[in-house]
Amino acid sequence: MRVCSIASGSSGNCIYAGTDHTHLLIDAGCSKKKIVEGLGGLGLALDDISAILLTHEHSDHVAGLRTLMKHCDVPLYATSGTLAALTRDDAGQQTRYTIAAGESFAIGDLTAQPFAISHDAAEPVCYRITADDGAVFAMATDLGCYDENTIAHLTGADVLLLEANHDIRMLQTGPYPYPLKQRILGDKGHLSNDASGALLSRVLHDGLKAVMLGHLSERNNLQELAYETVRLEVEMGDTPYHASDFRLMVADRHLPSAALSF
Ligand SMILES: [Zn+2]
Ligand SMILES: [Zn+2]
Repeated sequence: MRVCSIASGSSGNCIYAGTDHTHLLIDAGCSKKKIVEGLGGLGLALDDISAILLTHEHSDHVAGLRTLMKHCDVPLYATSGTLAALTRDDAGQQTRYTIAAGESFAIGDLTAQPFAISHDAAEPVCYRITADDGAVFAMATDLGCYDENTIAHLTGADVLLLEANHDIRMLQTGPYPYPLKQRILGDKGHLSNDASGALLSRVLHDGLKAVMLGHLSERNNLQELAYETVRLEVEMGDTPYHASDFRLMVADRHLPSAALSF
């Protein structure tokens, strides 16, 4: 499998996960131009995309969907809540498949397992993607808190994309209005760097190859701070693992990440 973050952050999210035969986009929250460039870096074009999987209807996950759909006729997979919450401006008339948390579905040689997350959207999910050869990628962004179900879906993955949205102190002392701060910090908001590190500590295992931190806030986080906070959480935490046991990287808000092959 190959995974690449084409864009990740509160201003737009699009993740590529695919094999030689099947190519998925998870969300389309950035411009078509950016997605085409990101795919180009992987040697792929829009026509190669097999399906688009949505996590939820917030604009940072669907803003580029409509334009994208004008240029490629690929099926869209989302929960009924997400599909119902999409406005006419979000999407065109492409084929839509309704999915549900806890019900796996296959696309080519990939199997996607959507799982529910705690976020203030209609029916948000994240995904665990398994290739026929056994490779596993799991992602969890846009969640205010996690539970055993989240942990179960992230356990045993080769590569993880985890939200490290904000530094709590930067958020608390930053410019956001109080209600927005409360929303982000709440159970249906976003994972802080500390929470991200704590979650990662729960799913470390011998086979973990790489962890990408993503969905960083522009105003309330810094790449170095996210990296260092999560690294320290792993180092200081009560696990036999060290941050040097796997590749830890931070997905850029606007630029494609390195492609991870595993
Ligand atoms: Zn969201
Ligand atoms: Zn988001």
